[in-house]
Amino acid sequence: MKLAYVKGPLVAVFAGSWLCEKSPVDGVPILLGEPIGECAGDVARLISIATTVRAVKRLGARVYVSEALGADGVDAAFAGGADGVVEELGASKDAAGGTQAVVVEAGDVAELLNKARRLGEEVRRGFEVLVAAPFDKAVELAPFVDGVVLTGGWVEVGLEEVGHVPEVGRCTACGVDYLMYGETIRRCVYCGRRLVKVITSTRPPRSRPVFRAVAKKYLKLAIHRFKVV
Ligand SMILES: [Zn+2]
Repeated sequence: MKLAYVKGPLVAVFAGSWLCEKSPVDGVPILLGEPIGECAGDVARLISIATTVRAVKRLGARVYVSEALGADGVDAAFAGGADGVVEELGASKDAAGGTQAVVVEAGDVAELLNKARRLGEEVRRGFEVLVAAPFDKAVELAPFVDGVVLTGGWVEVGLEEVGHVPEVGRCTACGVDYLMYGETIRRCVYCGRRLVKVITSTRPPRSRPVFRAVAKKYLKLAIHRFKVV
């Protein structure tokens, strides 16, 4: 099905290329309103997970997810820049057994900080504090901890079927995407730089190091608008 990204944050993060014939590479930002390619399956859910992870990453926090998301969901999280899967960390809920990381739940900042201090008093050694929280809570608590375990509250993402998917060229300097419905251009009309092809049928392998590398590359990139040419 030919799809466009029609509902959600102004900039989302693409994930789920393995369900697509043509699409952006996993981890690449997409702009609200843009066509994204030809996909089958629940790509909207994967974009939602990747986009939510990226939003927390941009605050500077480390982000973990649970394997309960399933293999596709976990890979989408890595496309968004996730640092790991909480089950693989060997974290505990009470700092018992010498674990290096402790996952706490807290309704507010005061509860979080008091819980961390009490655990310190109890075990008398260092550990990292990860807070398990849905997205909106995670944003509030992230500045006070070593990392966040995202448990839900994924941002809403809507896709819609479209009749045609044009070539999309991106100027990473100006933050402009060119939707080539009419003519095909190779260079940015504002700065003259070569455009990067956003929608492609060739893609890197589905592996965590590759997801990580792409996510890192695009963490700070801001796409501001698109222009139909
Ligand atoms: Zn430009």
